[in-house]
Amino acid sequence: MPEIIVKPSNLKELWKMLPGLPARRRYLAGGTDLVTAGVAGVEHSECWIDIGDLPELGSIKEAAGSLFIGSGVKISEIESSKAAARWCPALVAAIPHFASPSLRNMATLGGNAANASPCADGACSLVAEGASVLLALKGKKRRLPLVDFFLGPKLTALKKDELILGFEIRKRRHAGAYLKLGPRAYFGISKAAVAVTAELSGGAVKRVRVALGSVAPVPLYAARTSAFLADKKLSAETIAEASALVRTEASPITDTRSEAAYRLDMCGVLLERALKSLA
Ligand SMILES: Cc1cc2nc3c(=O)[nH]c(=O)nc-3n(C[C@H](O)[C@H](O)[C@H](O)COP(=O)(O)OP(=O)(O)OC[C@H]3O[C@@H](n4cnc5c(N)ncnc54)[C@H](O)[C@@H]3O)c2cc1C
Repeated sequence: MPEIIVKPSNLKELWKMLPGLPARRRYLAGGTDLVTAGVAGVEHSECWIDIGDLPELGSIKEAAGSLFIGSGVKISEIESSKAAARWCPALVAAIPHFASPSLRNMATLGGNAANASPCADGACSLVAEGASVLLALKGKKRRLPLVDFFLGPKLTALKKDELILGFEIRKRRHAGAYLKLGPRAYFGISKAAVAVTAELSGGAVKRVRVALGSVAPVPLYAARTSAFLADKKLSAETIAEASALVRTEASPITDTRSEAAYRLDMCGVLLERALKSLA
């Protein structure tokens, strides 16, 4: 566990205090990943910077063409947001699958992305939502498509001290689904997960985004399957073809939670179910 924990009260104060802090430092948001790692003895920072109360990170804001979800927004706050329900249906569909109600009251969306686990439910559903991530470092801001943010397991495009400000989702009318296969119906890390968003028009889908969790080194955008589904009627044949295609995009591993072949198969099954629920 770290020697010191500091708590800036706003972003300006954060950038000012950084040069005086020990070199091995990390941001602390809800702590559900970081404190767990500290207790397990696999997190060796000298200093944690508690960003839990930074006002700039804590809200969901609607603009004319987009929705902004601050990185410090708790998973349970998204669950009760009308704006999120309207503009991010796949993200909201993922929330009941996310740990337990008490954990959802602590865990943040920013921590979920920064932790960069291939099985992160929030990250996977945000990839299906086509989200961008907004980053800041000492006043300098940049924006990345979320798919470009994940570089590998626990590996992101974040530079030292760079902070996730939040996520931007373009407003568009669409439906969304999130299906997760875990060790039990709820509360468990997934063996495989599928997030889908679809713009529907007269029984056909215009644009579709399919994302996969736990079956690749990163929360994966299934580009070929998404392209295949565009401008198609969701017939039994189309769904069967998409379900076969998505299996070719995943690259799961065998680990303590599941076997690679089973995970691959389940990607197809979950996608089939998700598309049927949208049709
Ligand atoms: C029992 C248990 C069950 C869980 N179940 C699930 C589950 O079902 N689904 C799921 O997806 N996850 C699950 N998790 C993982 C965890 O709860 C999530 O990843 C959570 O969203 C992390 O958010 P946090 O605010 O707690 O992050 P923290 O633990 O505070 O931080 C995690 C990492 O992100 C960095 N970080 C945090 N915020 C920022 C920021 N704004 N900018 C830059 N870096 C930042 C930290 O430095 C740290 O490296 C579970 C964890 C536990 C302990």
